[in-house]
Amino acid sequence: MQKILDDINELMAANTDRGKVADYIPQLACVDSNQFGITVVLADGQVFSAGSSAQLFSIQSISKVFTLTMALGKIGDALWSNVGREPSGDAFNSIVQLEHEHGKPRNPFINAGAIAVVDAIMMGHQPKETLAEIVQFVRYIANDSSISIDDKVARSEVETGHRNASLAHFMASFGRIKHLVDCVLGTYYHHCSIAMNCEQLAQAGMFLALDGMHQNSTNRVVSAQRARRINSLMLMCGHYDGSGEFAYRVGLPGKSGVGGGILAIAPGKASIAVWSPGLDSVGNSKLGTEALEILVQQTGWSIFGH
Ligand code: GLN
Repeated sequence: MQKILDDINELMAANTDRGKVADYIPQLACVDSNQFGITVVLADGQVFSAGSSAQLFSIQSISKVFTLTMALGKIGDALWSNVGREPSGDAFNSIVQLEHEHGKPRNPFINAGAIAVVDAIMMGHQPKETLAEIVQFVRYIANDSSISIDDKVARSEVETGHRNASLAHFMASFGRIKHLVDCVLGTYYHHCSIAMNCEQLAQAGMFLALDGMHQNSTNRVVSAQRARRINSLMLMCGHYDGSGEFAYRVGLPGKSGVGGGILAIAPGKASIAVWSPGLDSVGNSKLGTEALEILVQQTGWSIFGH
């Protein structure tokens, strides 16, 4: 495994076509695209890394896997009355579908869906309390109490979040947002701004690789059925309108973020985090996807067969 990751890291370092960093969030525009990191945590707990795997980055939409997990824990299937489970085929911040579908977002991973998920988690609490709960949950599943929010990124998102604000207000006009829209948005921006490195992120994904079990205790994070369902949502919707392409090339449940991270799950085998800030045209890490494609070819981990 170490040799596979070292080879991938070398290949990626030589790759000059690295995609483009997200610039609609000014604080993400200053990240150097010449970076790459990868971590694989195997089901037995062994950890392998290469490149800048200890470098913190903004996990952005990958956080939506964790907030979805929390929302299902709090309200269970009631979540699905306000959020769908179908791929959108549209950009992550698109508004067109929302109007056609009466303010009900297609899935929990597009921005509108994730905003509705935050509204479900808040349950009458203040943004601060909800955020503390989210960060605490991420620390618990990653087994790392140092994980926190990058306030600079959060502020940058608040200042430029007109599109997200319109999505949230539009849903509110259908009665689908129960809390003050500004409070929901503030919470959403801040959870997107959690900073993690590949090592922490791969650890945080372990419960999805282990049928819902916490990786180094006898505790269960979610039921096996719920872990399986979250994985299936990641496969179908985790890369927005690039989800089909990701399933075709990589063949693993995965969730991307515009910070350039991808969390991919090989059920029963491993949790993988990869990071490279340059994005493809739909907002998924360009080198991250290429690296996962090679990893899966080398390991035979695709859920669709060897
Ligand atoms: N915080 C980002 C946004 O709201 C998340 C988008 C993403 O990672 N795809 O636009």
